[in-house]
Amino acid sequence: VPAIEVLSAEQVYPNGTRALTPVSLSIQPGEFVTLLGPSGCGKSTLLKMVAGLLEPSDGRILLSRKPVQDANAEHELSFVFQEATLMPWSTVEANVRLPLDLAGVPKAESTPRVAQALEMVGLGAFGKHRPRELSGGMQMRVSIARGLVTQPRLLLMDEPFGALDEFTRNKLDADLLALWRRQGLTVVFVTHSISEAVFLSTRVIVMAARPGRIVEDIAIDPGIPRD
Ligand code: ADP
Ligand code: ADP
Repeated sequence: VPAIEVLSAEQVYPNGTRALTPVSLSIQPGEFVTLLGPSGCGKSTLLKMVAGLLEPSDGRILLSRKPVQDANAEHELSFVFQEATLMPWSTVEANVRLPLDLAGVPKAESTPRVAQALEMVGLGAFGKHRPRELSGGMQMRVSIARGLVTQPRLLLMDEPFGALDEFTRNKLDADLLALWRRQGLTVVFVTHSISEAVFLSTRVIVMAARPGRIVEDIAIDPGIPRD
Protein backbone atom coordinates (compact mmCIF):
# COMPACT_ATOMS: atom_id res chain seq x y z
CA VAL A 1 0.00 0.00 0.00
CA PRO A 2 1.52 3.37 -0.98
CA ALA A 3 2.20 5.70 1.95
CA ILE A 4 1.06 8.67 -0.14
CA GLU A 5 -1.06 8.90 -3.28
CA VAL A 6 -1.61 12.28 -4.87
CA LEU A 7 -4.33 11.95 -7.49
CA SER A 8 -4.60 14.90 -9.88
CA ALA A 9 -4.46 17.31 -6.96
CA GLU A 10 -4.33 20.98 -7.80
CA GLN A 11 -4.41 24.24 -5.90
CA VAL A 12 -5.92 27.55 -6.87
CA TYR A 13 -5.82 29.96 -3.92
CA PRO A 14 -8.89 32.12 -3.16
CA ASN A 15 -7.15 35.17 -4.71
CA GLY A 16 -6.92 33.29 -8.01
CA THR A 17 -3.24 32.27 -7.82
CA ARG A 18 -2.82 28.95 -9.56
CA ALA A 19 -0.14 27.56 -7.24
CA LEU A 20 -0.15 23.99 -8.52
CA THR A 21 -1.41 22.44 -11.76
CA PRO A 22 -2.80 18.90 -11.36
CA VAL A 23 -0.13 16.69 -9.82
CA SER A 24 -0.15 12.91 -9.47
CA LEU A 25 2.41 10.84 -7.66
CA SER A 26 2.77 7.81 -5.45
CA ILE A 27 5.25 7.40 -2.59
CA GLN A 28 6.04 4.02 -1.07
CA PRO A 29 6.61 3.38 2.66
CA GLY A 30 10.23 3.99 3.68
CA GLU A 31 11.07 6.38 0.86
CA PHE A 32 12.92 9.61 1.64
CA VAL A 33 11.59 12.01 -0.95
CA THR A 34 12.75 15.59 -1.42
CA LEU A 35 10.64 18.19 -3.21
CA LEU A 36 13.19 20.42 -4.93
CA GLY A 37 12.60 23.64 -6.82
CA PRO A 38 12.86 27.44 -6.81
CA SER A 39 10.80 29.69 -4.62
CA GLY A 40 7.15 29.80 -5.66
CA CYS A 41 6.98 26.47 -7.51
CA GLY A 42 4.38 25.06 -5.11
CA LYS A 43 6.52 22.87 -2.83
CA SER A 44 4.88 24.11 0.38
CA THR A 45 1.46 24.01 -1.23
CA LEU A 46 1.91 20.35 -2.18
CA LEU A 47 3.30 19.44 1.23
CA LYS A 48 0.46 21.21 3.06
CA MET A 49 -2.09 19.35 0.97
CA VAL A 50 -0.40 16.02 1.80
CA ALA A 51 -0.46 17.03 5.47
CA GLY A 52 -4.16 17.82 5.34
CA LEU A 53 -3.50 21.46 6.24
CA LEU A 54 -4.84 22.63 2.89
CA GLU A 55 -7.65 21.11 0.88
CA PRO A 56 -6.93 20.54 -2.82
CA SER A 57 -9.09 22.69 -5.10
CA ASP A 58 -9.52 19.55 -7.13
CA GLY A 59 -8.26 15.97 -6.97
CA ARG A 60 -7.60 13.74 -3.98
CA ILE A 61 -4.86 12.72 -1.58
CA LEU A 62 -4.74 9.35 0.17
CA LEU A 63 -2.38 8.22 2.93
CA SER A 64 -2.17 4.42 3.14
CA ARG A 65 -5.31 4.35 0.97
CA LYS A 66 -7.25 6.50 3.46
CA PRO A 67 -8.33 10.13 3.18
CA VAL A 68 -5.85 12.54 4.80
CA GLN A 69 -8.24 13.54 7.58
CA ASP A 70 -8.41 9.93 8.86
CA ALA A 71 -4.61 9.71 8.95
CA ASN A 72 -4.50 13.00 10.85
CA ALA A 73 -6.93 11.69 13.44
CA GLU A 74 -4.79 8.60 13.96
CA HIS A 75 -1.51 10.56 14.33
CA GLU A 76 0.02 8.79 11.40
CA LEU A 77 1.81 11.91 10.24
CA SER A 78 3.78 14.79 11.72
CA PHE A 79 4.58 18.11 10.10
CA VAL A 80 7.82 19.95 10.92
CA PHE A 81 7.72 23.64 10.01
CA GLN A 82 10.52 25.88 8.78
CA GLU A 83 10.70 27.66 12.12
CA ALA A 84 11.03 25.60 15.29
CA THR A 85 7.84 27.31 16.63
CA LEU A 86 8.48 26.32 20.24
CA MET A 87 6.61 27.77 23.20
CA PRO A 88 9.31 29.94 24.82
CA TRP A 89 7.82 29.87 28.31
CA SER A 90 7.72 26.06 28.45
CA THR A 91 10.55 23.61 28.95
CA VAL A 92 11.92 21.53 26.09
CA GLU A 93 10.18 18.53 27.64
CA ALA A 94 6.80 20.29 27.76
CA ASN A 95 7.19 21.40 24.15
CA VAL A 96 7.85 17.84 22.99
CA ARG A 97 5.01 16.53 25.17
CA LEU A 98 2.42 18.91 23.67
CA PRO A 99 1.03 16.59 20.94
CA LEU A 100 0.61 13.80 23.52
CA ASP A 101 -1.12 16.18 25.95
CA LEU A 102 -3.47 17.25 23.16
CA ALA A 103 -4.21 13.59 22.43
CA GLY A 104 -5.02 13.00 26.12
CA VAL A 105 -2.13 10.60 26.71
CA PRO A 106 -1.57 10.30 30.47
CA LYS A 107 1.68 11.66 31.96
CA ALA A 108 2.85 8.23 33.09
CA GLU A 109 2.82 7.11 29.48
CA SER A 110 4.01 10.33 27.84
CA THR A 111 7.04 10.94 30.09
CA PRO A 112 9.13 7.99 28.82
CA ARG A 113 8.07 8.71 25.24
CA VAL A 114 9.22 12.33 25.52
CA ALA A 115 12.55 11.16 26.94
CA GLN A 116 12.95 8.68 24.11
CA ALA A 117 12.15 11.29 21.43
CA LEU A 118 14.72 13.68 22.92
CA GLU A 119 17.29 10.86 22.96
CA MET A 120 16.63 10.22 19.29
CA VAL A 121 17.64 13.76 18.38
CA GLY A 122 20.62 13.80 20.74
CA LEU A 123 19.08 16.11 23.34
CA GLY A 124 18.44 13.67 26.16
CA ALA A 125 20.11 15.97 28.66
CA PHE A 126 18.16 19.12 27.72
CA GLY A 127 14.57 18.34 28.76
CA LYS A 128 14.51 20.84 31.62
CA HIS A 129 15.96 23.71 29.59
CA ARG A 130 13.99 26.54 27.96
CA PRO A 131 14.17 26.84 24.16
CA ARG A 132 16.07 30.17 24.31
CA GLU A 133 18.92 28.46 26.14
CA LEU A 134 19.53 26.28 23.07
CA SER A 135 21.15 27.08 19.71
CA GLY A 136 19.04 27.37 16.55
CA GLY A 137 20.06 23.88 15.48
CA MET A 138 19.16 22.42 18.84
CA GLN A 139 15.76 24.16 18.74
CA MET A 140 15.12 22.53 15.36
CA ARG A 141 16.01 19.18 16.92
CA VAL A 142 13.42 19.82 19.64
CA SER A 143 10.90 20.53 16.91
CA ILE A 144 11.78 17.21 15.23
CA ALA A 145 11.48 15.39 18.57
CA ARG A 146 8.01 16.91 18.96
CA GLY A 147 7.20 15.51 15.51
CA LEU A 148 8.52 12.04 16.39
CA VAL A 149 6.92 11.70 19.82
CA THR A 150 3.58 10.58 18.37
CA GLN A 151 5.45 7.79 16.54
CA PRO A 152 4.18 8.80 13.11
CA ARG A 153 4.78 6.69 10.04
CA LEU A 154 5.10 9.79 7.89
CA LEU A 155 7.28 12.82 8.59
CA LEU A 156 6.64 15.91 6.46
CA MET A 157 9.24 18.68 6.67
CA ASP A 158 9.02 22.12 5.06
CA GLU A 159 12.59 23.48 4.67
CA PRO A 160 13.22 22.64 8.31
CA PHE A 161 16.88 23.70 8.29
CA GLY A 162 16.59 26.56 5.80
CA ALA A 163 17.14 29.28 8.38
CA LEU A 164 20.32 27.70 9.77
CA ASP A 165 23.92 28.22 8.75
CA GLU A 166 25.33 25.68 6.32
CA PHE A 167 27.51 23.94 8.89
CA THR A 168 24.63 23.34 11.28
CA ARG A 169 22.36 22.34 8.44
CA ASN A 170 24.79 19.68 7.20
CA LYS A 171 25.06 18.29 10.70
CA LEU A 172 21.28 18.07 11.09
CA ASP A 173 20.93 16.55 7.61
CA ALA A 174 23.34 13.77 8.57
CA ASP A 175 21.51 13.12 11.84
CA LEU A 176 18.13 13.11 10.13
CA LEU A 177 19.42 10.55 7.64
CA ALA A 178 20.66 8.31 10.44
CA LEU A 179 17.30 8.63 12.21
CA TRP A 180 15.40 7.74 9.03
CA ARG A 181 17.59 4.65 8.54
CA ARG A 182 16.93 3.47 12.09
CA GLN A 183 13.19 4.22 12.22
CA GLY A 184 12.03 3.17 8.76
CA LEU A 185 9.92 6.32 8.41
CA THR A 186 8.54 7.72 5.20
CA VAL A 187 9.89 11.26 4.82
CA VAL A 188 8.89 14.07 2.46
CA PHE A 189 11.32 16.96 2.76
CA VAL A 190 11.03 20.33 1.01
CA THR A 191 14.21 22.13 0.01
CA HIS A 192 15.55 24.53 -2.61
CA SER A 193 19.08 23.19 -2.14
CA ILE A 194 20.20 20.73 -4.81
CA SER A 195 23.05 19.42 -2.67
CA GLU A 196 20.73 18.83 0.28
CA ALA A 197 18.26 16.97 -1.96
CA VAL A 198 20.97 14.76 -3.43
CA PHE A 199 22.56 14.08 -0.05
CA LEU A 200 19.33 13.22 1.73
CA SER A 201 16.91 11.49 -0.51
CA THR A 202 16.22 8.23 -2.26
CA ARG A 203 14.11 10.20 -4.73
CA VAL A 204 14.12 13.81 -5.89
CA ILE A 205 10.94 15.37 -7.27
CA VAL A 206 11.89 18.52 -9.17
CA MET A 207 9.29 21.25 -9.50
CA ALA A 208 9.09 24.44 -11.56
CA ALA A 209 7.11 27.65 -11.15
CA ARG A 210 4.51 29.60 -13.15
CA PRO A 211 2.56 27.46 -13.07
CA GLY A 212 3.70 25.19 -10.22
CA ARG A 213 4.28 21.68 -11.55
CA ILE A 214 6.47 18.57 -11.41
CA VAL A 215 9.11 18.48 -14.14
CA GLU A 216 11.28 15.53 -13.06
CA ASP A 217 10.94 12.56 -10.75
CA ILE A 218 14.36 11.01 -10.18
CA ALA A 219 15.23 7.86 -8.23
CA ILE A 220 18.60 8.12 -6.49
CA ASP A 221 20.59 5.26 -5.06
CA PRO A 222 21.41 6.45 -1.57
CA GLY A 223 24.50 4.24 -1.76
CA ILE A 224 24.31 3.31 1.90
CA PRO A 225 22.78 0.04 3.10
CA ARG A 226 20.05 0.25 5.74
CA ASP A 227 20.77 -1.42 9.08
P1 ADP B 1 7.27 27.21 -2.64
O1 ADP B 1 7.02 26.48 -1.37
O2 ADP B 1 7.80 26.33 -3.72
O3 ADP B 1 8.08 28.46 -2.47
P2 ADP B 1 4.47 27.91 -2.43
O4 ADP B 1 3.72 26.64 -2.42
O5 ADP B 1 4.70 28.61 -1.15
O6 ADP B 1 5.84 27.69 -3.23
O7 ADP B 1 3.75 28.94 -3.41
C1 ADP B 1 3.33 28.62 -4.74
C2 ADP B 1 2.63 29.84 -5.34
O8 ADP B 1 1.43 30.08 -4.63
C3 ADP B 1 3.45 31.12 -5.25
O9 ADP B 1 3.17 31.88 -6.41
C4 ADP B 1 2.90 31.79 -4.02
O10 ADP B 1 3.05 33.17 -4.09
C5 ADP B 1 1.45 31.39 -4.06
N1 ADP B 1 0.82 31.30 -2.73
C6 ADP B 1 1.27 30.59 -1.67
N2 ADP B 1 0.41 30.68 -0.63
C7 ADP B 1 -0.61 31.47 -1.06
C8 ADP B 1 -1.82 31.94 -0.46
N3 ADP B 1 -2.16 31.62 0.78
N4 ADP B 1 -2.62 32.73 -1.20
C9 ADP B 1 -2.29 33.07 -2.46
N5 ADP B 1 -1.18 32.64 -3.10
C10 ADP B 1 -0.34 31.86 -2.41
P1 ADP C 1 23.48 22.31 16.77
O1 ADP C 1 24.13 21.89 15.50
O2 ADP C 1 22.63 21.26 17.37
O3 ADP C 1 22.86 23.68 16.71
P2 ADP C 1 25.77 23.63 17.74
O4 ADP C 1 26.97 23.11 17.06
O5 ADP C 1 25.18 24.92 17.31
O6 ADP C 1 24.66 22.47 17.79
O7 ADP C 1 26.06 23.68 19.29
C1 ADP C 1 25.79 24.81 20.09
C2 ADP C 1 26.33 24.54 21.44
O8 ADP C 1 25.53 23.53 22.07
C3 ADP C 1 27.75 23.97 21.42
O9 ADP C 1 28.45 24.47 22.53
C4 ADP C 1 27.56 22.48 21.53
O10 ADP C 1 28.67 21.86 22.15
C5 ADP C 1 26.33 22.39 22.38
N1 ADP C 1 25.58 21.18 22.04
C6 ADP C 1 24.91 20.92 20.90
N2 ADP C 1 24.32 19.73 20.94
C7 ADP C 1 24.63 19.20 22.15
C8 ADP C 1 24.33 17.98 22.83
N3 ADP C 1 23.58 17.02 22.28
N4 ADP C 1 24.83 17.79 24.06
C9 ADP C 1 25.57 18.72 24.62
N5 ADP C 1 25.88 19.90 24.06
C10 ADP C 1 25.42 20.14 22.86
